[in-house]
Amino acid sequence: NLTDRLERSFKILKGEGRITEINVAETLKEIRRALIDADVNYKVAKTFTDEVKQKALGANVLTAVKPGQMMTKIVRDELALLMGGTASDINLDGRPAVILIAGLQGSGKTTFSGKLANLLKSKRSRSVLLVAGDVYRPAAIEQLKILGQQVGVEVYTEEGNKNPVEIAENAIKYARGKNINTVIVDTAGRLAVDEAMMEEIAAVKRAVKPSETLFVVDAMTGQDAVNTAREFNERLDYDGVVLTKLDGDTRGGAAISIRSVVNKPLKFISSGEKMDALQVFHPERMADRILGMGDIVSFVERAQEQYDEEDARRLKKKIVKNQFDFNDFLDQIAQIKKMGNMKDLMGMIPGVGKAIRDIEISDDMFKQTEAIIHSMTPAERSNPEIINPSRKERIAKGSGTTLAEVNKLLKQFDQTRKVMKSVATMKPGMAKGRRK
Ligand code: GDP
Ligand code: MG
Repeated sequence: NLTDRLERSFKILKGEGRITEINVAETLKEIRRALIDADVNYKVAKTFTDEVKQKALGANVLTAVKPGQMMTKIVRDELALLMGGTASDINLDGRPAVILIAGLQGSGKTTFSGKLANLLKSKRSRSVLLVAGDVYRPAAIEQLKILGQQVGVEVYTEEGNKNPVEIAENAIKYARGKNINTVIVDTAGRLAVDEAMMEEIAAVKRAVKPSETLFVVDAMTGQDAVNTAREFNERLDYDGVVLTKLDGDTRGGAAISIRSVVNKPLKFISSGEKMDALQVFHPERMADRILGMGDIVSFVERAQEQYDEEDARRLKKKIVKNQFDFNDFLDQIAQIKKMGNMKDLMGMIPGVGKAIRDIEISDDMFKQTEAIIHSMTPAERSNPEIINPSRKERIAKGSGTTLAEVNKLLKQFDQTRKVMKSVATMKPGMAKGRRK
């Protein structure tokens, strides 16, 4: 699957160093292949990887993150951008607001109509009327009635009337009379795009002037979904796309292609037959889902915000020369605190997440350490070797701690310094061997 393949290709980049043309090429090729396999249109995939390449080569890789992680973030941001950048809402202007639902037969229109009614009612306090505009199959009317009952929303039907334009117009009048502020018009679909169906929906659209026309498409139909989306758009000029059946053998790729081919926002994703299985579409979340690496992305973002690369380089130099002192130690603590709750941060690192959740870590941990360091003179901080027993006694008193606690910190500091030096001078090859 896409995630596995991307993970594998990212491994190529997991070593130390920079993102270079050479180590990025293989990854991009793999991403392109994976996207195409996930039903992303070839041209779209090509444009996408070209874009990622540009960004990756220009990227300033932070010391705190590995090139592979950086690359993940770049790919994710580009993916999100490709799918529209930010979430876009539906337009509920009008008294009542009218939402027209279009799509092929079996795409999930009627199910979605029920879900949308449920969402608008429970999450946005709208009063909703469902309209049975699929006049050809009695079973379709029955289906909508059942869904309406499930979510507690009234369903407007006109048994015997075969004119969906009339039914929709009458339903809107009915809603006005009853002070219902939202009308959802479910329509009939065919198995394939045909002129009669298109004309029927277009006629309903002209008559009721919906504030929102949504095109519903089955995500499992892959490339066909893209073609259908294009054809419906040419005829209906809809406002948004609903991707259904994302609970199955999920092919998020359709989301990417539709957005870039049709240039209409995806607004909802439907993932199940239950009435609450509907989510507002968030491009970033979909990108995370496609990549399956959301946590790493947030980690890189936080690190980017807080980590000054220059500082890091200077620090490394000091560490190598064994000049790391208590001032640097204090800086490091401040850095860590700036990055927010430590537990949060560490929880974002893959594999660490679960383990860390059970451990109590807080900023308070540093309180005592900071107090002790603050009680040192500048000379003591930059040259810890001079801290003799009488100085220790003074520091303990000044910081409200005990001699044992001061000793403990000094010992820890000494160890930290040694470990840091050995890590900083380690060659990349050695690191690899150790991790195994
Ligand atoms: P319509 O012909 O466009 O109105 O499609 P329906 O709403 O009747 O849905 C067709 C079939 O797909 C029904 O069996 C639904 O239960 C099913 N279905 C609709 N949406 C989803 C979904 O998000 N996930 C799954 N698994 N099934 C769905
Ligand atoms: Mg239907």
